[in-house]
Amino acid sequence: MNVDRHAPRVGTSPCPVKVAMRFNAEVHRKLPAIQGGMWAVAAVIADKTIGVAIVGHPQARLTSQRIAELEILRVAVIEGSRNACSALYGACARAARAMGAADLTTTIHIDEPGGSLIAAGWVRIGETAGGEWSRPSRARSAAKDARPKVRWAVPWGRSAAAKSWNWCRWCKQLVDADDVHDGSEVKCIGCGRWFVVVTYQDGTASLESVRTRKAARKETP
Ligand SMILES: [Zn+2]
Repeated sequence: MNVDRHAPRVGTSPCPVKVAMRFNAEVHRKLPAIQGGMWAVAAVIADKTIGVAIVGHPQARLTSQRIAELEILRVAVIEGSRNACSALYGACARAARAMGAADLTTTIHIDEPGGSLIAAGWVRIGETAGGEWSRPSRARSAAKDARPKVRWAVPWGRSAAAKSWNWCRWCKQLVDADDVHDGSEVKCIGCGRWFVVVTYQDGTASLESVRTRKAARKETP
């Protein structure tokens, strides 16, 4: 087995939402407020909490159809706690699936790396416009953080299965190849690589790397 003996072992543990919120407020000085969580998970090393993830519902209004769609509202880890984030994303995904959730999503800022989400098996499903908290009806909490965000989802969930999207094999972003025809070039918004859409008679499509396609063209005069 290939185990790094020097990396501290990160475990996870159930965590009361109140405790997780207090931890989040201490770590996340910029964004301390949370509307309300349903359940929480702690990342621990030798009984010391080094991070928390708080899970609840997306901010959009709940319909009976969406009640089973969960969102990680906040992940807060002590700086330098490597592996804590991916441990939390992984634990939340397993717990959500075990309790029958139809989906689990989360958003991170556009300048945050998604490495810990990829490590936990999550997929990138798109970007959201910034300023989502500056709705007219809630002006008092206006635009605390207006940067665009990147949306991620568990691979078994509703969002990932919603369209006949295709996986970018480089960054695990889902690239929308729905409204394009055979031969269209589409850009992965995750890593910026270009792909050529190849469609099949049964309506499915696959993505072929442009570099591969161009190399093949060169070889045939
Ligand atoms: Zn990509």
